[in-house]
Amino acid sequence: MLSLFDIGLEKFYNFNIVITFGGDGSMIARIFRRQPPDCISDPKWFIPRKEFIPAYIRTYEFDKHIFEEKVERAIQVLEKCEVCPRNCHINRLENRTAVCRTGRFAYVASAFPHFGEEDCLRGWSGSGTIFFSFCNLKCVFCQNFDISWEGNGQVLTASELAKVMIYLQESGCHNINFVTPEHVVPQIMEAIPIAIDMGLRLPIVYNTSAYDSFHSLEIMNGIVDIYMPDLKFWDRELSFFYMAARDYPDVAQAAIKEMHRQVGPLKFDENGLALRGILVRHLVMPNRVAGAREIFRFIANDISRDTYINIMDQYRPEGRVLKLPEKYKDINRSTNCVEYEEALKLAREEGLYRFDVRRMQ
Ligand code: SF4
Repeated sequence: MLSLFDIGLEKFYNFNIVITFGGDGSMIARIFRRQPPDCISDPKWFIPRKEFIPAYIRTYEFDKHIFEEKVERAIQVLEKCEVCPRNCHINRLENRTAVCRTGRFAYVASAFPHFGEEDCLRGWSGSGTIFFSFCNLKCVFCQNFDISWEGNGQVLTASELAKVMIYLQESGCHNINFVTPEHVVPQIMEAIPIAIDMGLRLPIVYNTSAYDSFHSLEIMNGIVDIYMPDLKFWDRELSFFYMAARDYPDVAQAAIKEMHRQVGPLKFDENGLALRGILVRHLVMPNRVAGAREIFRFIANDISRDTYINIMDQYRPEGRVLKLPEKYKDINRSTNCVEYEEALKLAREEGLYRFDVRRMQ
């Protein structure tokens, strides 16, 4: 796919070009300015691009030893694995595997400039997405079932992973977007200093289910620029039924508080590209099983009303829901527009106001 950048039109990123055809075959092109990013209407969400230095570069330049010590501590945890809240206690250094089925090295399913992410991440050249295979959650409805359950992908060493990051940077991507990183934090940490030495300078996005351990988030403090957690469920029993993780609501709430403490609300550059902060996602589920009211109340009251939020409507039955439709009958259909509108209304009622809106078709 050609981007505006490829054809030298990135300066039109803030415009929509609409072409209409008349009955006589004539063609009219109209150019509209898109709704400006909220950094333009409110300077408190703005970071001038020329002043931005990625968090990991600051940490690295401040003291390389802090970085080395973080990498060492991260790798050590693999010996009796407590990388995520499952605490399986197996030795991944010897390539043993448990719930996440990942041993010493990360599996990567794909890496490419992704144009399906939020506008503030994909911009005009794509978000540099690295999809890790397998997952520490067992969502029966996973929208990437072939990657997270079936584990399609290949093993990469730290230096191979660093090369992938540089490839994405050289492809013009606006950021490095680690998708499903919860079980491979040590492997990511091992690769980042290699990538820095190879010239990596893009913001890092940590794109997570929020089922993260406090230890991993402490390691990622001063490394990640943008946290993008998905807050999925509010109820413990439903979390167990749909994701095999009864403690998910407690873990995710604590994790999101910590992410917000580290990076604060989401901020953008002059072009509306995200540079630093937290972007919370919530996937609207059929039959209100997710607990949207409580989730938005938590975000507004316990995180911040200034939280930038993407309320997503693309749920469709996948994975085990399709294999066991009777068992999962409550979520065996797509979300409808009534449920989606209701979720938006609930978020507004709870005081949230910074919603992700697609500006570019
Ligand atoms: S990262 Fe994997 S092995 Fe380690 S505790 Fe989590 S699920 Fe278990």
